[in-house]
Amino acid sequence: MSNISAREAGSNPKKAVIWEERWHPLREEWVIIAAHRQTRPWIGQTVTSTLAPPPAYVSDCYLCPGNLRVSGLANPPYSGVYVSDNDHPCAGPDAPTELNTPPPPYRNRPATGRARVICYSPRHDLTMAQMSLAEISRVVEVWQAQTFDLGQLPEVNHVLCFENKGEVVGVSNPHPHGQLYATNFVFKTVEVELEAARRYRQESEPAQTLFAAIIRAEQSDGRRILYEDEYTIAFVPYFARYAYEVYVAPKRSVGHIYALTPPEVESLAKALKRVTVRFDNLWQMSFPYIMALHQAPTDGGDYRDFHFFIGFLPPLRQPNLLKYLAGPESGGGNFLSDTLPETKAAELLAVPDDEHYTRRSQPVRGEELPPG
Ligand SMILES: [Zn+2]
Repeated sequence: MSNISAREAGSNPKKAVIWEERWHPLREEWVIIAAHRQTRPWIGQTVTSTLAPPPAYVSDCYLCPGNLRVSGLANPPYSGVYVSDNDHPCAGPDAPTELNTPPPPYRNRPATGRARVICYSPRHDLTMAQMSLAEISRVVEVWQAQTFDLGQLPEVNHVLCFENKGEVVGVSNPHPHGQLYATNFVFKTVEVELEAARRYRQESEPAQTLFAAIIRAEQSDGRRILYEDEYTIAFVPYFARYAYEVYVAPKRSVGHIYALTPPEVESLAKALKRVTVRFDNLWQMSFPYIMALHQAPTDGGDYRDFHFFIGFLPPLRQPNLLKYLAGPESGGGNFLSDTLPETKAAELLAVPDDEHYTRRSQPVRGEELPPG
């Protein structure tokens, strides 16, 4: 680690040097915040945003309405949200059941479950940020129905809904879509968060829900909150591992998205829109991210400690600059962040969240924000 002094880092030593470790209570691990390193020289790969916006329909897109997929089946001429089986499933009823038994301690088993694709819109050229509130609400409702239905399957113990957005996270097709993995195991992130939530309740006096405590801590600080209404809150967490990491959560503690009421669904959709519009407006580009719904398992267990939320993990830390998972992250398992969550939240708060930049003729940076 470079040994930069306060004087070298900037004219205001107290302001310039933010160098500390922050506890990630959901993962029970330390995140190193080394914001004084951000100006270090960079000679690695950069990312350039896609130049021209895509057309509304593409004849060889396997997700556009009416088009043929690799399975040979054609998509129906759908108009709203469309869910189909993944043509390249990672888990499914066709997974081989006759497996070779490895020597201990190795183990294996069939990859049962389901994998589906969820198209948010028939329009090839939209992103969530450009969809209407009603359209995003419909996506949330389909997440609800899919989680509930897939969770009922006896071989399914967990439903992971997620979206990979942008070429830098490996998605070359811009058609707005996400995926549903219904698996016979519980994804590790949720397993870790569940254990942390249980421990927190046991060890807190009086017993408290971990995520409720996180929401209160964010509210008491206030600087990292991007959106809040009666039902939903969105914020850059104090312990963010990625520069523009954002959590969107219902204020009421529910384990699964299907437990949300219609007003909570609408509120969640509004928060999702506001956050994704801010992302896109930040650098006036379609902002890449990995988005995942953190939901409790669906195996019938007691998960009252688990608080459903949606996490955005954007891979960019500066325009055209990727966060690499290197030695500390991939090798050591803890994150090193070169950015300060308060600074990144301030950047997102400094751009409008009520109108997407593609609908404006003037640059959006640095303008005043409307209330709410
Ligand atoms: Zn398409």
